[in-house]
Amino acid sequence: MRLRIAAGNWKMNTSIQEGIELAKSINQFATSINIENKRIILGVPFTHIVPIVQTVDYRKISIAAQNCAKWEKGAYTGEISAEMIRSTGAHYVIIGHSERRQYFNENNNDLKIKVELCLKNNLRPIFCIGEKLKEREQEKHFNVVSTQLKESLFHLDEENFSHIVLAYEPVWAIGTGKNATPEQAQEMHAFIRKLISENYSISIAQNTTILYGGSCNAQNAKDLFSQPDIDGGLIGGASLKANDFIEIIKVL
Ligand code: PEP
Repeated sequence: MRLRIAAGNWKMNTSIQEGIELAKSINQFATSINIENKRIILGVPFTHIVPIVQTVDYRKISIAAQNCAKWEKGAYTGEISAEMIRSTGAHYVIIGHSERRQYFNENNNDLKIKVELCLKNNLRPIFCIGEKLKEREQEKHFNVVSTQLKESLFHLDEENFSHIVLAYEPVWAIGTGKNATPEQAQEMHAFIRKLISENYSISIAQNTTILYGGSCNAQNAKDLFSQPDIDGGLIGGASLKANDFIEIIKVL
């Protein structure tokens, strides 16, 4: 059985104090529910990781960083390594978010290196893939996603690949209020699962968690998550409001 996941991506939002309050509210709800087979993840800014790890019940909530450096250590002022992240108590790292690809020019090869550094440090990558609007309009979306997977992930052996969580996030849906329809998302998730089974095995494909991300909210989460190949969501805006995120967790 694959894990179902509700993962928040707080991006560059909240002060530490606001973040702790948000984490406390989500934690209070999380402690009251049975989350067997499910995982709640908070993707918080680097500065917030340690205090939030100390705030939440680790049996109910895991913490993710939103990025890591593409080098192991050394003279890279301002960078944070995978090893440093592991030492905070975080267990996941969001890798390849479209905002990092777009604003920081991260390419598939950079992301391949980051994935390897995460795995080496016992961190699970939440690896983001997805096409831009123009690429969908030109019907290149399957090609784009397949290239992203091939160039950053499919060199991994089965053992390492089994630690990856995928997040399909069509770029045109992120922060726009225009989510992919459940049918559009399911079509892509089924395609991704098929690629995994061709590159690894049916059992690895069946056990890989594939999240949907892009304007997922308390209103549309149920329809999206009820699709057979959608195993939860990577949530941006709606993860910043405790009640909205809690509603999303409820339909996981
Ligand atoms: C995201 O940043 O990964 C995301 C999906 O954002 P939003 O939910 O705000 O579209």
